[in-house]
Amino acid sequence: MATLDSVRWQLAALDISNKNPSNPARPPLHSKQPSQTIAANARLRTTYAAPNPTATSSNTKNKPPVTSFSSNASQPQPSAIHTKTSATKTRGQTPLPPPRTAEIMQSLNIGNYDGGLEKENEKRGEKVYGEAAKDLELDSSSARKSPTSEWSLHNFDIGRPLGKGKFGRVYMVRTKCEPKYILALKTLYKSEIVTGRVEKQTRREIEIQQNLRHPNVLRLYGYFHDEKRIFLMLEFAGQGELYRQLSKHGCFSEKKSSRYIDQMADALSYLHSKHVIHRDIKPENLLLGLNGELKIADFGWSVHAPGNRRMTLCGTLDYLPPEMVERKEHNEKVDYWALGVLTYEFLIGNPPFEDRRSVKNTYQRIMAVDLKFPYSMSIQVKDLIGKLLRHDPQDRIALSEVLRHPWIVKYRPKDCPRGSQTY
Ligand code: AMP
Repeated sequence: MATLDSVRWQLAALDISNKNPSNPARPPLHSKQPSQTIAANARLRTTYAAPNPTATSSNTKNKPPVTSFSSNASQPQPSAIHTKTSATKTRGQTPLPPPRTAEIMQSLNIGNYDGGLEKENEKRGEKVYGEAAKDLELDSSSARKSPTSEWSLHNFDIGRPLGKGKFGRVYMVRTKCEPKYILALKTLYKSEIVTGRVEKQTRREIEIQQNLRHPNVLRLYGYFHDEKRIFLMLEFAGQGELYRQLSKHGCFSEKKSSRYIDQMADALSYLHSKHVIHRDIKPENLLLGLNGELKIADFGWSVHAPGNRRMTLCGTLDYLPPEMVERKEHNEKVDYWALGVLTYEFLIGNPPFEDRRSVKNTYQRIMAVDLKFPYSMSIQVKDLIGKLLRHDPQDRIALSEVLRHPWIVKYRPKDCPRGSQTY
Protein backbone atom coordinates (compact mmCIF):
# COMPACT_ATOMS: atom_id res chain seq x y z
CA MET A 1 0.00 0.00 0.00
CA ALA A 2 1.39 3.39 -0.92
CA THR A 3 1.95 5.75 1.97
CA LEU A 4 0.41 9.18 1.89
CA ASP A 5 3.83 10.68 1.52
CA SER A 6 4.65 8.57 -1.49
CA VAL A 7 1.44 9.61 -3.19
CA ARG A 8 2.14 13.24 -2.33
CA TRP A 9 5.54 12.87 -3.93
CA GLN A 10 3.95 11.35 -6.94
CA LEU A 11 1.52 14.23 -7.26
CA ALA A 12 4.26 16.74 -6.75
CA ALA A 13 6.26 15.30 -9.56
CA LEU A 14 3.59 14.86 -12.14
CA ASP A 15 2.24 17.43 -14.50
CA ILE A 16 -0.52 16.02 -16.64
CA SER A 17 -1.42 19.14 -18.52
CA ASN A 18 0.46 18.07 -21.59
CA LYS A 19 -0.40 14.45 -21.33
CA ASN A 20 -2.79 12.36 -23.20
CA PRO A 21 -2.55 8.76 -24.24
CA SER A 22 -0.86 9.66 -27.48
CA ASN A 23 1.47 12.40 -26.37
CA PRO A 24 4.00 11.57 -23.71
CA ALA A 25 6.06 14.75 -24.14
CA ARG A 26 5.80 17.31 -21.39
CA PRO A 27 7.53 20.48 -20.24
CA PRO A 28 9.56 20.91 -17.07
CA LEU A 29 7.55 20.44 -13.91
CA HIS A 30 5.98 23.39 -12.11
CA SER A 31 6.95 25.76 -14.87
CA LYS A 32 4.65 28.33 -16.39
CA GLN A 33 3.83 27.75 -20.03
CA PRO A 34 4.71 30.35 -22.62
CA SER A 35 1.69 31.35 -24.64
CA GLN A 36 2.65 29.43 -27.77
CA THR A 37 2.95 26.25 -25.73
CA ILE A 38 -0.43 26.96 -24.25
CA ALA A 39 -1.93 27.29 -27.69
CA ALA A 40 -0.29 24.08 -28.85
CA ASN A 41 -1.66 22.19 -25.90
CA ALA A 42 -5.06 23.83 -25.71
CA ARG A 43 -6.81 20.80 -27.11
CA LEU A 44 -5.42 18.59 -24.39
CA ARG A 45 -6.37 20.99 -21.69
CA THR A 46 -9.99 20.81 -22.65
CA THR A 47 -9.98 17.28 -21.41
CA TYR A 48 -7.25 17.03 -18.89
CA ALA A 49 -5.91 20.22 -17.40
CA ALA A 50 -3.84 20.02 -14.28
CA PRO A 51 -4.57 22.18 -11.26
CA ASN A 52 -3.01 25.56 -10.91
CA PRO A 53 -1.68 26.24 -7.43
CA THR A 54 -1.47 29.96 -8.01
CA ALA A 55 -5.14 30.25 -8.89
CA THR A 56 -6.35 31.60 -5.58
CA SER A 57 -8.93 34.25 -4.92
CA SER A 58 -6.31 36.91 -4.96
CA ASN A 59 -4.92 36.26 -8.39
CA THR A 60 -7.93 35.08 -10.35
CA LYS A 61 -10.65 37.41 -9.32
CA ASN A 62 -10.25 39.63 -12.32
CA LYS A 63 -10.56 36.85 -14.83
CA PRO A 64 -13.95 36.58 -16.47
CA PRO A 65 -16.05 33.56 -15.58
CA VAL A 66 -16.12 30.79 -18.15
CA THR A 67 -19.46 29.40 -19.13
CA SER A 68 -18.77 27.31 -22.23
CA PHE A 69 -19.87 23.74 -21.63
CA SER A 70 -18.07 22.00 -24.40
CA SER A 71 -14.60 23.39 -24.17
CA ASN A 72 -12.31 25.65 -22.24
CA ALA A 73 -9.62 25.43 -24.85
CA SER A 74 -9.25 29.17 -25.07
CA GLN A 75 -8.44 29.44 -21.38
CA PRO A 76 -4.68 29.46 -20.92
CA GLN A 77 -3.92 27.57 -17.74
CA PRO A 78 -0.42 27.34 -16.37
CA SER A 79 -0.32 23.91 -14.88
CA ALA A 80 1.24 22.33 -11.89
CA ILE A 81 -0.09 20.05 -9.22
CA HIS A 82 -0.94 21.68 -5.94
CA THR A 83 0.52 19.49 -3.28
CA LYS A 84 2.16 19.77 0.05
CA THR A 85 5.51 19.83 -1.71
CA SER A 86 4.67 22.75 -3.93
CA ALA A 87 2.43 24.51 -1.46
CA THR A 88 4.91 24.75 1.35
CA LYS A 89 6.90 27.23 -0.70
CA THR A 90 6.11 30.85 -1.09
CA ARG A 91 4.80 31.77 -4.51
CA GLY A 92 7.48 32.61 -7.03
CA GLN A 93 10.18 30.45 -5.47
CA THR A 94 11.77 27.66 -7.43
CA PRO A 95 9.97 24.39 -6.72
CA LEU A 96 11.80 21.48 -5.18
CA PRO A 97 13.10 19.04 -7.74
CA PRO A 98 10.70 16.15 -8.19
CA PRO A 99 11.69 12.67 -7.06
CA ARG A 100 12.67 10.10 -9.67
CA THR A 101 9.74 8.83 -11.68
CA ALA A 102 10.76 5.21 -11.16
CA GLU A 103 10.53 5.59 -7.40
CA ILE A 104 7.13 7.18 -7.73
CA MET A 105 5.78 4.43 -9.93
CA GLN A 106 6.88 1.78 -7.46
CA SER A 107 4.99 3.47 -4.69
CA LEU A 108 1.65 3.61 -6.45
CA ASN A 109 -1.21 1.51 -5.29
CA ILE A 110 -4.72 2.19 -6.42
CA GLY A 111 -6.08 -0.95 -4.80
CA ASN A 112 -7.93 -3.85 -6.33
CA TYR A 113 -10.64 -3.45 -8.88
CA ASP A 114 -13.83 -5.38 -8.12
CA GLY A 115 -15.13 -5.42 -11.70
CA GLY A 116 -18.00 -3.23 -10.56
CA LEU A 117 -18.10 -0.93 -13.55
CA GLU A 118 -18.77 -3.74 -16.02
CA LYS A 119 -21.15 -5.58 -13.71
CA GLU A 120 -23.11 -2.43 -13.07
CA ASN A 121 -23.17 -1.49 -16.74
CA GLU A 122 -24.77 -4.79 -17.69
CA LYS A 123 -27.75 -4.16 -15.43
CA ARG A 124 -28.04 -0.44 -15.20
CA GLY A 125 -29.01 2.44 -17.47
CA GLU A 126 -30.27 2.83 -21.01
CA LYS A 127 -28.85 4.47 -24.09
CA VAL A 128 -30.02 8.04 -24.46
CA TYR A 129 -31.04 9.57 -27.77
CA GLY A 130 -32.94 12.49 -29.22
CA GLU A 131 -34.70 15.29 -27.41
CA ALA A 132 -34.35 13.73 -23.98
CA ALA A 133 -30.61 14.10 -24.12
CA LYS A 134 -30.51 17.45 -25.83
CA ASP A 135 -30.19 19.56 -22.71
CA LEU A 136 -27.27 17.47 -21.64
CA GLU A 137 -25.74 17.44 -25.14
CA LEU A 138 -24.74 13.92 -24.42
CA ASP A 139 -26.64 12.06 -27.05
CA SER A 140 -25.16 8.58 -27.20
CA SER A 141 -24.73 8.73 -30.95
CA SER A 142 -22.03 11.34 -30.43
CA ALA A 143 -20.32 9.39 -27.69
CA ARG A 144 -17.28 8.73 -29.82
CA LYS A 145 -16.91 12.27 -31.05
CA SER A 146 -17.68 14.68 -28.29
CA PRO A 147 -17.10 16.22 -25.87
CA THR A 148 -13.72 14.79 -25.00
CA SER A 149 -13.02 11.91 -27.31
CA GLU A 150 -9.34 11.79 -26.36
CA TRP A 151 -10.20 9.87 -23.22
CA SER A 152 -12.03 6.63 -22.73
CA LEU A 153 -12.24 3.98 -20.03
CA HIS A 154 -9.43 2.06 -21.76
CA ASN A 155 -6.99 4.80 -20.84
CA PHE A 156 -7.21 4.00 -17.13
CA ASP A 157 -6.19 1.26 -14.76
CA ILE A 158 -9.14 0.92 -12.44
CA GLY A 159 -8.49 0.49 -8.75
CA ARG A 160 -10.60 0.29 -5.64
CA PRO A 161 -14.14 1.60 -5.37
CA LEU A 162 -14.27 4.92 -3.51
CA GLY A 163 -17.99 5.14 -3.09
CA LYS A 164 -21.42 4.99 -4.63
CA GLY A 165 -23.32 8.06 -5.66
CA LYS A 166 -26.90 8.45 -6.75
CA PHE A 167 -26.08 8.07 -10.43
CA GLY A 168 -23.20 5.63 -10.35
CA ARG A 169 -19.98 4.50 -8.74
CA VAL A 170 -16.73 6.30 -8.06
CA TYR A 171 -13.39 4.51 -8.54
CA MET A 172 -9.79 5.29 -7.83
CA VAL A 173 -8.02 5.14 -11.18
CA ARG A 174 -4.63 5.75 -12.70
CA THR A 175 -3.88 6.88 -16.22
CA LYS A 176 -2.14 4.18 -18.23
CA CYS A 177 0.00 6.79 -19.93
CA GLU A 178 2.86 8.49 -18.17
CA PRO A 179 2.88 10.07 -15.68
CA LYS A 180 0.30 7.57 -14.42
CA TYR A 181 -1.77 10.15 -12.73
CA ILE A 182 -4.20 9.17 -9.98
CA LEU A 183 -7.79 10.38 -10.20
CA ALA A 184 -11.26 9.61 -8.94
CA LEU A 185 -13.45 8.50 -11.83
CA LYS A 186 -17.12 9.14 -11.23
CA THR A 187 -19.74 7.45 -13.40
CA LEU A 188 -23.13 8.94 -14.07
CA TYR A 189 -25.80 6.98 -15.92
CA LYS A 190 -27.25 9.21 -18.60
CA SER A 191 -30.72 7.68 -18.61
CA GLU A 192 -30.98 8.12 -14.84
CA ILE A 193 -30.00 11.75 -15.18
CA VAL A 194 -32.74 12.18 -17.77
CA THR A 195 -35.28 10.26 -15.66
CA GLY A 196 -34.34 12.33 -12.62
CA ARG A 197 -34.78 15.46 -14.75
CA VAL A 198 -31.42 16.77 -13.67
CA GLU A 199 -29.86 17.22 -17.10
CA LYS A 200 -29.50 20.96 -16.56
CA GLN A 201 -28.18 20.53 -13.04
CA THR A 202 -25.64 17.95 -14.16
CA ARG A 203 -24.56 20.04 -17.07
CA ARG A 204 -24.21 23.06 -14.82
CA GLU A 205 -22.19 21.05 -12.31
CA ILE A 206 -19.75 19.97 -15.01
CA GLU A 207 -19.61 23.39 -16.62
CA ILE A 208 -18.89 25.19 -13.39
CA GLN A 209 -16.53 22.73 -11.78
CA GLN A 210 -14.37 22.27 -14.85
CA ASN A 211 -13.46 25.92 -14.86
CA LEU A 212 -12.51 26.31 -11.22
CA ARG A 213 -8.95 26.33 -9.95
CA HIS A 214 -8.49 26.63 -6.22
CA PRO A 215 -6.64 24.36 -3.76
CA ASN A 216 -9.81 23.98 -1.69
CA VAL A 217 -12.16 23.32 -4.59
CA LEU A 218 -12.22 19.78 -5.97
CA ARG A 219 -10.86 19.84 -9.52
CA LEU A 220 -12.73 18.37 -12.43
CA TYR A 221 -10.02 17.68 -14.98
CA GLY A 222 -12.34 16.61 -17.74
CA TYR A 223 -15.03 14.21 -18.76
CA PHE A 224 -15.86 11.73 -21.46
CA HIS A 225 -18.76 9.49 -22.19
CA ASP A 226 -19.83 6.25 -23.76
CA GLU A 227 -23.29 5.23 -24.87
CA LYS A 228 -24.75 4.90 -21.40
CA ARG A 229 -22.47 6.76 -19.04
CA ILE A 230 -20.72 10.03 -18.39
CA PHE A 231 -17.33 9.76 -16.67
CA LEU A 232 -16.05 12.64 -14.60
CA MET A 233 -12.30 12.79 -14.11
CA LEU A 234 -12.07 14.25 -10.63
CA GLU A 235 -9.21 15.17 -8.37
CA PHE A 236 -8.62 12.28 -5.98
CA ALA A 237 -9.53 13.33 -2.45
CA GLY A 238 -7.20 11.01 -0.55
CA GLN A 239 -8.77 11.34 2.90
CA GLY A 240 -12.35 10.93 1.71
CA GLU A 241 -15.44 12.52 3.12
CA LEU A 242 -15.26 15.20 5.80
CA TYR A 243 -18.68 14.11 6.93
CA ARG A 244 -17.29 10.71 7.86
CA GLN A 245 -14.66 12.37 10.07
CA LEU A 246 -17.31 14.51 11.71
CA SER A 247 -19.53 11.48 12.35
CA LYS A 248 -16.60 9.53 13.71
CA HIS A 249 -15.42 12.22 16.11
CA GLY A 250 -18.80 13.79 16.89
CA CYS A 251 -17.36 17.26 16.53
CA PHE A 252 -14.05 19.00 15.85
CA SER A 253 -11.81 21.05 18.11
CA GLU A 254 -11.81 24.83 17.73
CA LYS A 255 -8.37 24.66 16.12
CA LYS A 256 -9.41 22.12 13.51
CA SER A 257 -12.73 23.88 12.88
CA SER A 258 -11.01 27.23 12.51
CA ARG A 259 -8.59 25.84 9.94
CA TYR A 260 -11.39 24.30 7.92
CA ILE A 261 -13.42 27.50 8.05
CA ASP A 262 -10.35 29.47 6.99
CA GLN A 263 -10.06 27.27 3.88
CA MET A 264 -13.82 27.43 3.28
CA ALA A 265 -13.85 31.22 3.44
CA ASP A 266 -10.96 31.45 1.00
CA ALA A 267 -12.55 28.97 -1.42
CA LEU A 268 -15.96 30.67 -1.22
CA SER A 269 -14.41 34.04 -1.81
CA TYR A 270 -12.73 32.58 -4.91
CA LEU A 271 -16.03 31.08 -6.11
CA HIS A 272 -17.88 34.34 -5.57
CA SER A 273 -15.18 36.23 -7.46
CA LYS A 274 -16.05 33.95 -10.39
CA HIS A 275 -19.75 34.67 -9.83
CA VAL A 276 -20.38 31.13 -8.66
CA ILE A 277 -22.68 30.64 -5.67
CA HIS A 278 -22.44 27.14 -4.24
CA ARG A 279 -25.81 27.12 -2.43
CA ASP A 280 -25.38 23.68 -0.89
CA ILE A 281 -22.55 24.00 1.57
CA LYS A 282 -22.78 21.23 4.18
CA PRO A 283 -20.37 18.60 5.56
CA GLU A 284 -21.64 15.95 3.11
CA ASN A 285 -20.38 18.02 0.20
CA LEU A 286 -16.87 18.45 1.50
CA LEU A 287 -13.98 16.09 0.84
CA LEU A 288 -10.49 15.95 2.27
CA GLY A 289 -7.32 15.92 0.17
CA LEU A 290 -4.25 13.81 0.79
CA ASN A 291 -2.92 16.33 3.28
CA GLY A 292 -6.25 16.64 5.05
CA GLU A 293 -6.98 19.89 3.26
CA LEU A 294 -10.61 20.69 2.65
CA LYS A 295 -12.07 20.39 -0.86
CA ILE A 296 -15.46 21.79 -1.75
CA ALA A 297 -17.18 19.26 -4.01
CA ASP A 298 -20.63 18.70 -5.41
CA PHE A 299 -21.62 21.69 -7.46
CA GLY A 300 -25.03 20.22 -8.24
CA TRP A 301 -26.88 23.17 -6.75
CA SER A 302 -24.36 25.81 -7.61
CA VAL A 303 -25.22 28.56 -9.99
CA HIS A 304 -23.29 30.88 -12.19
CA ALA A 305 -25.11 34.15 -11.60
CA PRO A 306 -23.18 37.25 -12.65
CA GLY A 307 -25.21 40.14 -11.31
CA ASN A 308 -28.30 37.98 -10.95
CA ARG A 309 -30.41 37.40 -7.93
CA ARG A 310 -31.88 33.94 -7.73
CA MET A 311 -35.19 32.64 -6.52
CA THR A 312 -34.89 28.86 -6.65
CA LEU A 313 -35.36 27.00 -3.40
CA CYS A 314 -32.51 24.55 -3.13
CA GLY A 315 -29.93 23.31 -0.71
CA THR A 316 -30.35 21.39 2.51
CA LEU A 317 -32.96 22.33 5.07
CA ASP A 318 -30.67 22.89 8.07
CA TYR A 319 -28.39 25.11 6.03
CA LEU A 320 -31.06 27.21 4.36
CA PRO A 321 -30.86 30.93 5.09
CA PRO A 322 -33.97 32.96 5.97
CA GLU A 323 -34.19 34.53 2.50
CA MET A 324 -34.40 31.09 0.88
CA VAL A 325 -36.88 29.78 3.46
CA GLU A 326 -39.03 32.80 2.60
CA ARG A 327 -38.42 32.15 -1.11
CA LYS A 328 -37.07 35.63 -1.56
CA GLU A 329 -34.37 36.58 -4.01
CA HIS A 330 -30.95 35.56 -2.84
CA ASN A 331 -27.34 36.11 -3.73
CA GLU A 332 -23.89 34.87 -2.73
CA LYS A 333 -24.60 35.76 0.90
CA VAL A 334 -26.50 32.47 1.21
CA ASP A 335 -23.05 30.87 1.33
CA TYR A 336 -22.03 33.22 4.19
CA TRP A 337 -24.99 31.96 6.19
CA ALA A 338 -24.06 28.35 5.41
CA LEU A 339 -20.53 29.06 6.60
CA GLY A 340 -21.94 30.15 9.96
CA VAL A 341 -24.05 26.99 10.18
CA LEU A 342 -21.04 24.88 9.21
CA THR A 343 -18.83 26.49 11.88
CA TYR A 344 -21.46 25.66 14.49
CA GLU A 345 -21.91 22.08 13.26
CA PHE A 346 -18.15 21.46 13.25
CA LEU A 347 -17.94 22.50 16.89
CA ILE A 348 -21.15 21.02 18.26
CA GLY A 349 -21.86 18.13 15.90
CA ASN A 350 -25.34 19.39 14.96
CA PRO A 351 -26.51 22.37 12.94
CA PRO A 352 -27.79 25.27 15.08
CA PHE A 353 -31.43 25.37 13.98
CA GLU A 354 -32.05 21.64 13.82
CA ASP A 355 -35.43 20.67 15.24
CA ARG A 356 -36.24 17.02 14.85
CA ARG A 357 -39.92 17.52 15.63
CA SER A 358 -40.77 19.02 12.27
CA VAL A 359 -39.54 20.86 9.22
CA LYS A 360 -41.82 23.73 10.17
CA ASN A 361 -40.08 24.10 13.52
CA THR A 362 -36.69 24.20 11.83
CA TYR A 363 -37.95 26.87 9.44
CA GLN A 364 -39.29 28.90 12.33
CA ARG A 365 -36.02 28.68 14.19
CA ILE A 366 -34.15 29.79 11.06
CA MET A 367 -36.51 32.71 10.53
CA ALA A 368 -36.14 33.82 14.13
CA VAL A 369 -32.37 33.16 14.05
CA ASP A 370 -32.97 31.19 17.23
CA LEU A 371 -29.30 30.62 17.99
CA LYS A 372 -28.22 29.00 21.24
CA PHE A 373 -24.55 28.81 22.07
CA PRO A 374 -23.31 26.11 24.43
CA TYR A 375 -20.95 27.25 27.20
CA SER A 376 -18.14 25.25 25.67
CA MET A 377 -17.79 27.66 22.75
CA SER A 378 -15.16 30.38 22.94
CA ILE A 379 -16.26 34.03 22.90
CA GLN A 380 -14.33 34.51 19.67
CA VAL A 381 -16.13 31.81 17.72
CA LYS A 382 -19.49 32.91 19.08
CA ASP A 383 -18.68 36.36 17.76
CA LEU A 384 -17.89 34.99 14.29
CA ILE A 385 -20.95 32.73 14.10
CA GLY A 386 -23.16 35.55 15.36
CA LYS A 387 -21.83 37.83 12.63
CA LEU A 388 -22.44 35.25 9.87
CA LEU A 389 -25.89 34.18 11.02
CA ARG A 390 -27.69 37.46 10.52
CA HIS A 391 -31.23 37.49 9.20
CA ASP A 392 -30.53 40.32 6.79
CA PRO A 393 -27.96 39.13 4.22
CA GLN A 394 -26.49 42.65 4.07
CA ASP A 395 -25.59 42.45 7.76
CA ARG A 396 -23.50 39.28 7.38
CA ILE A 397 -19.77 39.69 7.82
CA ALA A 398 -17.84 39.69 4.52
CA LEU A 399 -15.59 36.74 3.69
CA SER A 400 -12.57 39.04 3.67
CA GLU A 401 -13.42 39.90 7.28
CA VAL A 402 -13.89 36.23 8.13
CA LEU A 403 -10.33 35.68 6.91
CA ARG A 404 -9.15 38.44 9.24
CA HIS A 405 -11.28 37.41 12.20
CA PRO A 406 -9.29 36.75 15.42
CA TRP A 407 -10.70 33.21 15.73
CA ILE A 408 -9.36 32.40 12.25
CA VAL A 409 -6.05 34.23 12.53
CA LYS A 410 -5.36 32.66 15.94
CA TYR A 411 -5.20 29.12 14.56
CA ARG A 412 -3.80 29.77 11.08
CA PRO A 413 -0.43 28.02 10.71
CA LYS A 414 2.44 30.43 10.34
CA ASP A 415 4.31 30.51 7.02
CA CYS A 416 1.79 28.22 5.44
CA PRO A 417 -0.14 29.38 2.40
CA ARG A 418 -3.85 28.86 2.69
CA GLY A 419 -5.09 25.65 1.13
CA SER A 420 -1.99 23.71 2.06
CA GLN A 421 -2.75 23.35 5.75
CA THR A 422 -2.28 19.89 7.11
CA TYR A 423 -3.63 18.19 10.20
P1 AMP B 1 -20.78 11.16 -5.01
O1 AMP B 1 -21.48 10.49 -6.12
O2 AMP B 1 -20.04 12.38 -5.44
O3 AMP B 1 -21.67 11.40 -3.83
O4 AMP B 1 -19.64 10.17 -4.53
C1 AMP B 1 -19.93 8.97 -3.83
C2 AMP B 1 -18.79 8.71 -2.85
O5 AMP B 1 -17.58 8.48 -3.57
C3 AMP B 1 -18.50 9.87 -1.92
O6 AMP B 1 -19.31 9.83 -0.81
C4 AMP B 1 -17.04 9.67 -1.59
O7 AMP B 1 -16.88 8.73 -0.56
C5 AMP B 1 -16.48 9.06 -2.86
N1 AMP B 1 -15.87 10.08 -3.71
C6 AMP B 1 -16.50 10.87 -4.61
N2 AMP B 1 -15.64 11.69 -5.21
C7 AMP B 1 -14.44 11.43 -4.71
C8 AMP B 1 -13.12 11.96 -4.92
N3 AMP B 1 -12.91 12.92 -5.80
N4 AMP B 1 -12.09 11.44 -4.22
C9 AMP B 1 -12.31 10.46 -3.32
N5 AMP B 1 -13.51 9.92 -3.07
C10 AMP B 1 -14.57 10.39 -3.74
